[in-house]
Parts: sequence; structure tokens; C-alpha cells
Amino acid sequence: MTIQERDVVERLRSLIRDVPDFPRPGIVFKDITLLLGDAVAFHAAIGALAQPYVDQGVDIVAGIESRGFILGGAVADRLGAGFALVRKEGRLPSDRISQAYTLEYGEAVIEMHSDAIAPGQRVLIVDDLLATGGTAGAAGALVDRLGGDIVGFAFLIELSALGGSAALGGRPYTALLRTKTDGGIR
Ligand code: AMP
Repeated sequence: MTIQERDVVERLRSLIRDVPDFPRPGIVFKDITLLLGDAVAFHAAIGALAQPYVDQGVDIVAGIESRGFILGGAVADRLGAGFALVRKEGRLPSDRISQAYTLEYGEAVIEMHSDAIAPGQRVLIVDDLLATGGTAGAAGALVDRLGGDIVGFAFLIELSALGGSAALGGRPYTALLRTKTDGGIR
């Protein structure tokens, strides 16, 4: 990592707020709203998220609702790629495919439009945070089912102690910041 890259990471780190016990007791929520509101930091974060994929021929960025829309849309623009929505169940208006995945308590479903990705298109999946990997893994399954070629997964934050990368099927992934689950960012 160059000194400049380290400066960027430190700036981003300082703008991620830990909110204990949100949305449930025991969860330390990583709030990225201060980062999004800082023009310099937001620009740097998008550049750093996009950088590993600039020469990868990405056709489409698939962003996961809802913070993955904000980051993924900007990354898509930076890469000269299109954007596809990965949404929570029941929110997409047209013909769609669904994928269920397991949460700590119960199950969740995410969806994509059936025509969001054409077979053979090169896809980068973007979300703000990798925790257990259930959400990103399910997004990967949706892209696989549409015939997309997954170039990788890009996250702002990885809660590395949760081992979520195991859910990504051995495909490349990048995270700008890695944190412990106790809420302290390393
Ligand atoms: P997971 O499926 O367990 O990897 O959870 C990842 C998804 O849940 C992402 O869309 C995150 O935005 C959200 N998420 C999970 N844990 C947190 C957390 N501690 N802080 C903020 N967002 C979280």
C-alpha cells in the first residue's frame, strides 16, 4: 500500500461510525452516512472500489439494495459500465428471478429482473459491507442463474471475523477496510 493509499483508507476509516445495538441488541452497525456526505472521501472511496477492476472489462455492476445502489452506481459510472439492481423481495416491477438465503433468524429473499444481465456479460457485484456473506452469495447466485460472468465482489467494509468470504464461491473479492466484529476498525 502506498502512503497515499494509506491516507485514503485512514480518512475513510475515520468517517465510518459504529452504532452499537442497531438495529438489534448485539449488532454494531457500520454507519457510512458521514463518508457519503464528505465529497473528497466519497470520491476517493469510489475510486478505490473501482480501481482493481478498471482493466477487467466489466459490462455491468450489480448493486445490492440499498447502500450497494449508492456505491455501485458510482462505481459503474467510473468503470464505464451499466448498472443492475439487486433488490429485496417484492420491489422490482417486471419479470424477475428470486434467491432465498439464510439469516441469523430466518430467511430473506433478493431478486433481479430476468433481463438485467445478458448471458456472458462481465459483472462486478458491489455492496457496502460483507458480514456473513449470505446476501452477496445470493446475489452471486442470481447473476450465475442469469448467465453473467462474475468478475468479482467489491465491498467498502469486511467484518473479517465472520468469514463471509467463504460464501463467495472462491471468486475474487476486494474490501477497502477490514474490521473486527467488536466494532473496532483495525
Ligand atoms: P451478510 O449477508 O451477513 O453478509 O450481511 C451483509 C448485508 O447486511 C449488507 O447489505 C450490509 O449492508 C448489511 N449489514 C450486515 N451487517 C451490518 C453491519 N454490522 N453494519 C451495517 N450493515 C450491515
